Amino acid sequence: MAALAALIFDVDGTLAETEEWHREAFNATFREAGLGWHWDQAAYAELLEVTGGKERIAYHIRREGLAPMTPERIAALHKDKTARYTARVAAGGIALRPGVRRLMLEARRARVKLAIATTTSRPNVMALLRAVGDVPEFDVIAAGDEVKHKKPAPDVFLAALRDLNLPAEACIAFEDTLNGVKSATAAGLRVVVTTSLYGGTGPFPGALGVVSDLGEPRAPARGLAGATPLGGVVTLNWLRGRG
Ligand SMILES: [Mg+2]
Repeated sequence: MAALAALIFDVDGTLAETEEWHREAFNATFREAGLGWHWDQAAYAELLEVTGGKERIAYHIRREGLAPMTPERIAALHKDKTARYTARVAAGGIALRPGVRRLMLEARRARVKLAIATTTSRPNVMALLRAVGDVPEFDVIAAGDEVKHKKPAPDVFLAALRDLNLPAEACIAFEDTLNGVKSATAAGLRVVVTTSLYGGTGPFPGALGVVSDLGEPRAPARGLAGATPLGGVVTLNWLRGRG
C-alpha cells in the first residue's frame, strides 16, 4: 500500500452541514412572508429529493393541498431565500463539521496534501471556504461544474487525482452519501464516510469506515491532565491503520 499522500474531501454534508443553512433560510423566508410554513428536518429530507428550490416550494404546496401560488410569487420567495442564505454564508455564520479543521491541520503538518472533489460549483465552494476562514489552503479543488459526469460517476475524483498527480492508492476520500462513496470507489479510492443529517444512514458498501463525524479529542477529565483519551477521533494514524 502506498504511503498516505493526500486527503480528498467532499463539501456538502462532509465539510459542513450546508443543507441545514438552506433549510433555515427557507424557514426564515416563510416566517417573514407570514405563510406559517415550517420545514423540519424530516420534511426537508423528503423535499431534498425534489431538485431545485422553486420546485421544492411548488411540491410543498401540492403535497399540503395549499392554495395555489403564482410562479412569480414562488420565484420571489425563492429569491428572498437565496439572499438570506448567501448573506449568512458571507457573514461567516457557518461551522465546519467536528474534526474537519483538526484533521486538515494534522495533514498539513505531516505534508499530506489536501484536496476537494465536489459536485458544487467552484464559486460556491470558494465562498464557503472564505466564509469559514482559518482553514489550510487546499492543494487541489475539483468542482462539479468542470467535469462531464457528476457523482456517482468518478469524474470529479479522477480530476482531483490528476491535479494532485498522485495514484488513488496514496489517497483517502471523505464522503457523506452513497453516491459519493460510489464516485470515490469507482475512481479507485478508499473512502471514509462521515454520516450527515441528509446523507442517508447507509449501508455504504466498499467504505473503509463509517463514523458519525471525524471527532475532536475530549478534554481530559479534571485531575487527569495528560490522560486525554482519543477514542472516536479520526487521525492520520487511524486512517493509516485502516489502510
Ligand atoms: Mg456530500
